[in-house]
Amino acid sequence: MADSDVEVIVVGGGAAGVAAARRLYDASVRCLILEARSRLGGRALTVTDASGFALDLGCGWLHSADRNPWARVAQEQGAAIDKTPPPWMRPPLETGFPRTDHVAYREALGRFYGRLHEAAQRDADAAAATLLEPGCQWNGLINAVSTYVSGAELDRVSVKDLDRYDDSGINWRIFEGYGFVVSAYGARLPVKFDCPVRAIDRSGKRLLVYTPQGAIAADQVIMAVPTTVLAAGQIAFTPALPEKIAAAHALPLGLDDKFFMSLDGAEEFDKDIRIFGRTDSAATGGYHFRPFGRPMIEAYFGGTLATELEAGGANAFFDFAVTELVNHFGGDFAVRLKPIRVHLWGRDPFALGSYSYARPGFADCRQTLAEPVEGRLFFAGEACSSHDFSTAHGAWETGVAAAEQVIAARSR
Ligand SMILES: Cc1cc2nc3c(=O)[nH]c(=O)nc-3n(C[C@H](O)[C@H](O)[C@H](O)COP(=O)(O)OP(=O)(O)OC[C@H]3O[C@@H](n4cnc5c(N)ncnc54)[C@H](O)[C@@H]3O)c2cc1C
Repeated sequence: MADSDVEVIVVGGGAAGVAAARRLYDASVRCLILEARSRLGGRALTVTDASGFALDLGCGWLHSADRNPWARVAQEQGAAIDKTPPPWMRPPLETGFPRTDHVAYREALGRFYGRLHEAAQRDADAAAATLLEPGCQWNGLINAVSTYVSGAELDRVSVKDLDRYDDSGINWRIFEGYGFVVSAYGARLPVKFDCPVRAIDRSGKRLLVYTPQGAIAADQVIMAVPTTVLAAGQIAFTPALPEKIAAAHALPLGLDDKFFMSLDGAEEFDKDIRIFGRTDSAATGGYHFRPFGRPMIEAYFGGTLATELEAGGANAFFDFAVTELVNHFGGDFAVRLKPIRVHLWGRDPFALGSYSYARPGFADCRQTLAEPVEGRLFFAGEACSSHDFSTAHGAWETGVAAAEQVIAARSR
């Protein structure tokens, strides 16, 4: 397809952009994805390690799997779906977290979410941290879990937004990798890689999209880039779009990084079991032992801790993980661990974070961001989803919704 034949440009080839472009392509709309990286998938990224295991460095869980469109796509692609319940829905390793303590923590967490739901019904929004029970011994761990859920501690997170998140409680995984499935879904689509969009001018009859590879005209454009990219002003809009940029600032990406380590003698542990580094602090890792039964640990770090570890590079993640695990299992444990892989999402220039949360008072910005402009500039991406934000299936839904809006606009 020549550039002059393009009807719709999709900026960004992550889960949202791929889903949008597939919907357009299937409707015979001539669309083109402009992707800054040399691959599709964005924050859905599967790599293969030296042992041949597919590691998801970005999304790994098919959350709300019973209604998650990527589960259907994975099945159509012949991928193997693992339905083992996730570690956070099962009791953790007793080491360092006795059963009675775990029960007390779960009860405190339940009470916190109860207060959150109640507070979300009030007119005024607030920071979720205001709902922590003063002096509760589990506040540190509840905050640590917030860093895994939102990529940020509760003092930065909107009550209303957090309460709106919808989850069916069914979580599956894809053996071949979530990132693999997302990028394979876009395999037939027209894409220009290594093509970061720098500016979009809609002052003329057609929109002009500027990239280092030249300018391309289109009737409509779907923006499917992370909010961080919009907020950083990486793409200049003419005329300017101050309300969109303000919404993007109100919906920053929290930070979460996965760190994979090999573990000698892993069979000593149950498959798919988790342990927290500690239970009295927000600055702790979640350690998922033997994911898929593999001889490794998938460690998860979020929020301020992840930011600090990124500043130290991959070694800082390993050192921190070893220290926390040695505290539980003794000094000999260190020699059983070897680093495999981490991706620093905060330093990734085309992500600048992991997934979106809303700042207190700004939950409605998700709708503001998703609103089309003049019937020819459309917005997609996980941050545009009011109930499935921060997920790859939320990204899908917003991508398909934007494509449907484009199709409707073209038929007028
Ligand atoms: C560590 C981690 C764990 C996660 N775990 C889960 C999980 O278990 N389950 C789940 O559902 N979700 C999870 N997520 C979140 C999920 O990966 C994202 O919500 C989802 O992939 C976002 O898709 P998107 O299309 O909205 O954005 P992205 O995937 O970020 O896609 C945006 C695309 O735009 C491109 N781009 C950026 N700037 C430009 C530009 N100027 N021009 C052109 N292209 C540009 C980017 O390269 C990227 O490809 C996780 C994420 C991380 C980082």
